[in-house]
Amino acid sequence: MADVKITKREVDYSRWYGDVIAAAELADYAPVKGCMIIRPNGYAIWEKMQRALDGMFKETGHENAYFPLLIPESFLHKEAEHVEGFAPEVATVTHAGGGKLEEPLFIRPTSETIIWHAYRNWIQSYRDLPLLINQWANVVRWEMRTRLFLRTTEFLWQEGHTAHATYDEAEQETLTILEVYKRFAEDFMAVPVIAGLKSESEKFAGADHTYTIEAMMQDGKALQSGTTHHLAQNFAKAFDVKFQDEKGQLEYVYATSWGVSTRLVGAVIMAHGDDKGIIIPPKLATVQLAIVPIFRNDEQKALVLEYVSRLTADLDGIGFKVDDREQYSPGRKFNDWEKRGVPLRMEVGPKDLEKGQVVLARRDTGEKSFVSQDGLRETITGMLDAIQTGLFDRALEFRKAHSHKIDDYARFNEILDGEGGFLWSHWCGSAGCEERIKNDTKATIRCIPTGEEKEAGKCIACGEGSEARVVFGRAY
Ligand SMILES: [Zn+2]
Repeated sequence: MADVKITKREVDYSRWYGDVIAAAELADYAPVKGCMIIRPNGYAIWEKMQRALDGMFKETGHENAYFPLLIPESFLHKEAEHVEGFAPEVATVTHAGGGKLEEPLFIRPTSETIIWHAYRNWIQSYRDLPLLINQWANVVRWEMRTRLFLRTTEFLWQEGHTAHATYDEAEQETLTILEVYKRFAEDFMAVPVIAGLKSESEKFAGADHTYTIEAMMQDGKALQSGTTHHLAQNFAKAFDVKFQDEKGQLEYVYATSWGVSTRLVGAVIMAHGDDKGIIIPPKLATVQLAIVPIFRNDEQKALVLEYVSRLTADLDGIGFKVDDREQYSPGRKFNDWEKRGVPLRMEVGPKDLEKGQVVLARRDTGEKSFVSQDGLRETITGMLDAIQTGLFDRALEFRKAHSHKIDDYARFNEILDGEGGFLWSHWCGSAGCEERIKNDTKATIRCIPTGEEKEAGKCIACGEGSEARVVFGRAY
């Protein structure tokens, strides 16, 4: 393990974030600015995320497919808003095979265009609908200001692209996936999120409207953690994808797209980590239990390891690792597993063997307890569940403590410059006020929450009438 001293969060949150990643060996910067090398400890978290999400997508009727990385330049130009939104960050291949290409090729920043090109051949009749497809892939969006996992030029993600016969069916799809994302964030990542609609200026380029889930990080900033887009008939019209409905009429197809990315690994780090490093929620930890045998001589070693192997024989379903490295002291090993964010540590020494017990140490609270070898598997499972719930509750408490209903513009600024957080304020709905607030305070409308009680009031910027509060915050 790298010997990295972790800066305290209150000293410099941004340095802390970088130190945590280095200490846990999650990722490195690459030779090309903005690119990221995901190391095994980081990739293991992503793999767990993929498995859980993939299962949820399949349960809701989706299938995986794969579309090419390279997209003809002309494709992106077919949907006007889409190209305008993505042009500044698209990378282009102009030369290949020793010569200049006739038509430059875009490296996908997202795959709507190439997928809708294919859907034109796949969809003829209402019988071909709905088409529910997901792709696991990498995309490239050129970034000037990069940060590992949160903002990188190349990142890994999944992108769902679905086709429907009606506007309402497409709407239902965006809401179904929004719910899947919310459930994943809260049940697996232990990160509470607010689901809602994006404002016009924050929606996806080419969408009719966009839904989002927004999480709060420990510095009070928001992290957009997943989005679902209702694309209406925009891409069907751009790529001329029509279907014959039940009455024999030709109609353009309705579309959705949706995605989450490796940015979620950053969310886990920033929502749960402490001054000792990352804390991985048990459901996303490959190693859920690190077992450190303690012994002073060969005789003790043999006895303790024998005891450990007896105990571990009964740990079905728990991801554990026995740390029998000879060259490190137990103290050093404890420190390593803490930095790696493993949720639970088991310590076993000669005295424990005599008493038929082990020591369990929780990563989230630091709490240590002696527990009997009898029913050990159930004890550990119970403790992992408690850690999973505990992390969620702690993050929810933090969000509550850093959420404020604000009706005074001066106070609005004051909070953002101070402790930060989510500000629930009234907004009249005008793009002008939204922009003014952004210019004045660097805060954006994170979302117009769905499923919250509506309450009339006056716009925080202009004083005009507003139907409900929206969530403002500074964001990553
Ligand atoms: Zn206003």
